[in-house]
Amino acid sequence: MIQIFTSNKPGPNLVVMAGVHGDESCGLEAFADILHTLSITKGVVTFVIGNPKAVARHKRVFNTNLNRMFRTDLLLNDNEKRTYEYVRSRELMPMLAEADALLDIHSTATPESTPFVICESSAYECAQVLPVQTVLSGIDALHPTGTDAFVNQTGGLGICIECGNHNDVFGKDIATEAIMNFLHFFGVIDREAQLQKRVQSHLQAEWLYTNKNTFTLSKQFSEFEKVTKGTRIGVDGTELIVAPYDGYIVFPQSVTAPNGEAFVYCREFSKS
Ligand SMILES: [Zn+2]
Repeated sequence: MIQIFTSNKPGPNLVVMAGVHGDESCGLEAFADILHTLSITKGVVTFVIGNPKAVARHKRVFNTNLNRMFRTDLLLNDNEKRTYEYVRSRELMPMLAEADALLDIHSTATPESTPFVICESSAYECAQVLPVQTVLSGIDALHPTGTDAFVNQTGGLGICIECGNHNDVFGKDIATEAIMNFLHFFGVIDREAQLQKRVQSHLQAEWLYTNKNTFTLSKQFSEFEKVTKGTRIGVDGTELIVAPYDGYIVFPQSVTAPNGEAFVYCREFSKS
């Protein structure tokens, strides 16, 4: 569940997390490859499985979404506080609060998805060496309750990487490269080669659509599919939901239960 690497030299305190969602195996597979050979030259690196009970069941959640639990008790209701994920979030919070940086590894349910990073502008420099072409910001403002948002709030750099669809065969390789480059970026492993800085496109998440009734997508959008203003995204009960402007859609899903997260809508921007 947890493996801590320490060194004699002072350096950054890093956390690498996988399995926050139990059906996302790429990060866990990367851990299995990396952990038996890794050695670090400075600082502390903690590898941790986010939601071991969900991982044991190969399910996304045990009771509820762990990645919506990282908020104060005052903002959680009694039902949420009765979940395993509530207990688990409280176990993880002290470790995350101490971290200088977090790399949290995920995959998505969207059938057509290429790897991307979620972070705020403070982490753009690190994101540039991770194996993705797209960087998504603004998620902290839409739901400031995930691991990466929590690390940002406690003074560290919170970075989440989505390594493609759950079943993509390259997911483990993306996760492995991301972990090694993350460690290299912070100088805790010895590497001869210079890190490659990638050309990346930047998107700002501006709208999280929360459904009122059963929400059905008008079609299966791919991750970051370009959508023109007025395009029919889906139907919420009887209400037609359309694109408010030319933008991009992320995490699109049909949702049966009310108050679900149906999609995130974003705008492209230039970071310079
Ligand atoms: Zn996930």
